[in-house]
Amino acid sequence: MALATPGVQGLHPYEAGKPVEELERELGISNIIKLASNENPLGPSAMAMAAVESALSESTRYPDSNGFGLKRALRQYYGLAADQLTLGNGSNDVLELITRAFLNPDDEVVFSEYAFAVYPILTQACSAKAVITPARDYGHNLQAMAEAISDKTRLLFIANPNNPTGTALMREELVAFLDSVPQTVIVVLDEAYTEYVESADFPDGLELLPQYPNLIVTRTFSKAWGLAGLRVGFAAANPEITDLLNRVRQPFNVSHLALAAAEAVLSDHDYLKRSVDLNRDGMQQLEEGLKLQGLGFIPSYGNFVTVDVARPAQPVFEALLHEGVIVRPLAPYRMPQHLRISIGLPEENDRFLRALRQVLAC
Ligand code: PMP
Repeated sequence: MALATPGVQGLHPYEAGKPVEELERELGISNIIKLASNENPLGPSAMAMAAVESALSESTRYPDSNGFGLKRALRQYYGLAADQLTLGNGSNDVLELITRAFLNPDDEVVFSEYAFAVYPILTQACSAKAVITPARDYGHNLQAMAEAISDKTRLLFIANPNNPTGTALMREELVAFLDSVPQTVIVVLDEAYTEYVESADFPDGLELLPQYPNLIVTRTFSKAWGLAGLRVGFAAANPEITDLLNRVRQPFNVSHLALAAAEAVLSDHDYLKRSVDLNRDGMQQLEEGLKLQGLGFIPSYGNFVTVDVARPAQPVFEALLHEGVIVRPLAPYRMPQHLRISIGLPEENDRFLRALRQVLAC
């Protein structure tokens, strides 16, 4: 369409998978399992569900546009002040607020090869220029990223852990990198999977905020907190950046039910622990099963593992689908021999491993 901006004209819509019920109808099979979107296999927290049920009675009213209750809970849980917080309809929404607030056409945005798919989309939607740096062992090569910074660089994205590779940066290297980045460059540290990481050397971006006024940390309730379908995320940053992000935020961008669920789940410590425990055990189960099949994988700090199937992955993906297991092919990330598997329940992991063995034997 001639009327779209140059950036939008070059974009392709994000390709989301079909609903499970639709696939079951199409393929004529039942009991399909989905291990494709890094969702929480536990099901929602009972406390979140109770909060949603009781919030339903308020559904004729608009939500609290400032998310007072959720911000109070975030303050208590993370020690953040309300003027450091921007709430979003998932953290994707918050990432978009960041690009809308800060990017001019032709500004440069630095991110790595194998970075989260949303960064290039948002960059291009603003007609800004993506500067993509080579990865190191499928993770961020911080030296290459530092060298890619120019006078035109406005934003730099790092997901820690990274999706789709599961790699993570440890505190020492991240801090040294942040020290080297000019204050004129805003660093977005996307911590969607942070709750799953148990290494003592793993950095907590929220603790780094006081030292780095150019840092924005994004978090989500979609993963370990189990609320992907409700869509809640947030950005934490200094009050000046937060003010700018809230200027471009739509009023009521987070629904009443989502606010209620997120506020409630922050008190459900048992739920978070069960999520993390299940993930640790599931990761071990998948790693052992993959090793037994002689397959390589990228060691992952997230709630997914990326497997090298040592052959074109698309036919393997399709064959797994016919066995009733949906996984994520990574050709869009230029990883044509890799599949990303989200950690499921033990029986789901087992079913995936059995299906994979069968498919690869053909
Ligand atoms: N960042 C990363 C690295 C992700 O993998 C995801 C989800 N796939 C998101 C952000 C966005 O998640 P949400 O919008 O559900 O918060």
